[in-house]
Amino acid sequence: MTDFEYRDRRLFCEETSLEEIAKMTGTPCYVYSNRTILDRFDAYNLAFGDIPHTVCYAVKANSNLALLNLLANAGAGFDIVSGGELYRVLKAGGDPRKVVFSGVGKTSDEIDFALSHNIFSFNCESEPELELIDSIAGERGVKARVAMRVNPDVDAATHPYISTGLREHKFGIDIAEVEDVYRRGMALANVALESVSCHIGSQLLDTQPLLEALRKMLGLIDRLRAAGAPISHIDLGGGVGVPYRSSEQRPDIDAFVQDLRGLLAGKRLHAMVEPGRSIVGEAGVLLTRVLYRKRNGDKEFVIVDAAMNDLIRPALYQSHHEIAPVALSDGETIRADVVGPVCETGDFLARDREMPDLRGGDLLAIMTAGAYGFAQASNYNSRPRPAEVLVDGKGWRIVRRRESYDDLIQPEVGARAEIVQ
Ligand SMILES: *Cc1c(COP(=O)(O)O)cnc(C)c1O
Repeated sequence: MTDFEYRDRRLFCEETSLEEIAKMTGTPCYVYSNRTILDRFDAYNLAFGDIPHTVCYAVKANSNLALLNLLANAGAGFDIVSGGELYRVLKAGGDPRKVVFSGVGKTSDEIDFALSHNIFSFNCESEPELELIDSIAGERGVKARVAMRVNPDVDAATHPYISTGLREHKFGIDIAEVEDVYRRGMALANVALESVSCHIGSQLLDTQPLLEALRKMLGLIDRLRAAGAPISHIDLGGGVGVPYRSSEQRPDIDAFVQDLRGLLAGKRLHAMVEPGRSIVGEAGVLLTRVLYRKRNGDKEFVIVDAAMNDLIRPALYQSHHEIAPVALSDGETIRADVVGPVCETGDFLARDREMPDLRGGDLLAIMTAGAYGFAQASNYNSRPRPAEVLVDGKGWRIVRRRESYDDLIQPEVGARAEIVQ
């Protein structure tokens, strides 16, 4: 269940009316439920129980400081993929000693920045990167904890853009070559190779491929330990999906972690996971208002004030988001494309969708937009990015104000003051 429900035919987030938020902050606007976020995080954290573990929230899913702070206070670690994300985690009060740094293209500045804050570990994706981490750690006189990211060659059976665990993908090191890399890596003076990591993809509604990856990783750990590598940690990445369609079933996080625990029993490993989408995805909606109705030939369009720059998932991944009217009505329904104002044919939020007979001014909630929503928003078409609101019961607050026209040009006029009129 989520915390977006109808009360007296009006859509609420927890005990707060979405109409009230839209009236006060304007639209488009992202709205997040404090309670859903903590519920999902706790589902992971509590299910691990007494086995040593760290749940590292994947910051790239939604990097708002208020959400990071909420999760930090709940005990989360963080999975970052850039120096900017580490900066956010630090500003939000996150503990750098619970941070893992993933990504195929870390720069020397980013590695140095992460070492300066003594992060828990680098999830290293290539040998040249390992050598660079070793040399920067050497300059600093520290030992860097490193897990090689293994590509376990498991098919995540998800959208090709978010599938990462096959041999043909750019991520990680082929499982067949990893042992040689550890053998050479153990000879480096400034890295401690005491962990292995993997991440096979995103939006997995079936958790079997994740368990398959764990089985392969445990086999690898046996071989690495036999070769003398003191492996104490395993990081299984993220990837559990969310039900974007009302017909889809939500993977049971507790049952999934119980399965992990079963496989990890007796292995003397500290377990780490990096969930992003499954913590914040269902905790957010994008509120948008209908601007116009329009008909071209036989085709009906609902034009709304949110666009692909606010939520790119439908355009980028052909993904489906349920669209719920904020006020329920009984009348006729229509079939329409729901589109935004951006000048691209790919700017749609839904296609050929059954909708209520909407009028200009009606409010809609684009559901399950908490992950990879605002995080992928842009200023395309010089559209200021939307506000973000965090709801906590009956109370709510703006956790990112709507951008202004001034925000759009500030970095440019800041650099060249003479062109300001
Ligand atoms: C994107 C990513 C995650 C989070 O994936 P979700 O599907 O959002 O859970 C975790 N780890 C790594 C390395 C990633 O790239």
